[in-house]
Amino acid sequence: MTATIELSGVSKSFGPIHAVRDVSFSLGEGEIVALVGHNGAGKTTLIKLMLGLIRPTAGTVRVLGEDPATGAAAVRTRLGYLPENVSFNPALTGTETLAFYSALKRAGRGQVGGLLERVGLAGAADRRVRTYSKGMRQRLGLAQALIGQPRVLLLDEPTTGLDPASRRDFYSFLDELRAAGATILLSSHALSELEGRADRVIIVGRGVKVADGTLDELRGIARLPTRIRVRLAPDGKDHAERIASRDAGWRPVNGRTLEINAAPEDKVALLRSAVADGIPIADLDVTPPTLDELYAHFQDTEGQDTEGQDTEGQDTEREAGR
Ligand code: ATP
Repeated sequence: MTATIELSGVSKSFGPIHAVRDVSFSLGEGEIVALVGHNGAGKTTLIKLMLGLIRPTAGTVRVLGEDPATGAAAVRTRLGYLPENVSFNPALTGTETLAFYSALKRAGRGQVGGLLERVGLAGAADRRVRTYSKGMRQRLGLAQALIGQPRVLLLDEPTTGLDPASRRDFYSFLDELRAAGATILLSSHALSELEGRADRVIIVGRGVKVADGTLDELRGIARLPTRIRVRLAPDGKDHAERIASRDAGWRPVNGRTLEINAAPEDKVALLRSAVADGIPIADLDVTPPTLDELYAHFQDTEGQDTEGQDTEGQDTEREAGR
């Protein structure tokens, strides 16, 4: 996979605040990567570093092979960015807004109509942005980020304000862009909606990268249990005790349903044992650890690892009331 973004040992301090500390990762073509972390973890700072809006205190950032802060303007025009709090001139129409950003990106106005169509705003193209709903402004923001067919898209909290149907449209749109080879990094707090949509997850905590991998890889590292739940057939109620007597750990949920938390290596054996000898099973659920649970696990681990380290930045942040 060709790397489009490479961060190597990147740190960024704002005076006494260590917003990002020694972070390295690379992003490839045709990849959707989620960047997740608590408020103040350093996500926006990382995105600003990739955009070249700020420069690292230490380490190197490369976007399409160049330093985004000092490299050729051509690199920046191949980057699309949707900021966290998107805000447009309310007096301009949707078409005028995209025409304005197209001129800034030297992309020409040719794609404006198609982009508005693609994000479902064709009908509102000639209305002033002040009349748009929050979700419509967010979609206009996405269209703005797509000007010039960027090879790299950096999206900060992109689904804020979108209703469930618009969110689905948004992710299927990202799938198309990924299939065309774009690199997409999205920062988000909406963990459950990222499952099955992001190819990879990077978790940051207090400015440090604490995990980086596919959901399966993170599950393998975290070794959190998988929940297995069996529901016995109506005539199988008496078998509940047989299941429980074979493997300690099964707990009754209600009359006919039993549940167990299985370590990854015990999963299959537990399932076999639960359905052995013709025990009448009506239904079966196997729920691997969710991204929410993995996130909590890695944040906790990071908290233990960094105990006693310099948290001056976080103190300052708390004092600032963020
Ligand atoms: P959120 O989820 O709340 O948007 P985030 O993960 O995007 O948070 P950042 O905005 O990157 O976090 O902030 C990381 C840390 O750096 C915070 O402690 C923040 O207060 C600090 N910080 C960010 N920008 C500046 C700045 N320009 N000057 C001083 N401190 C800053």
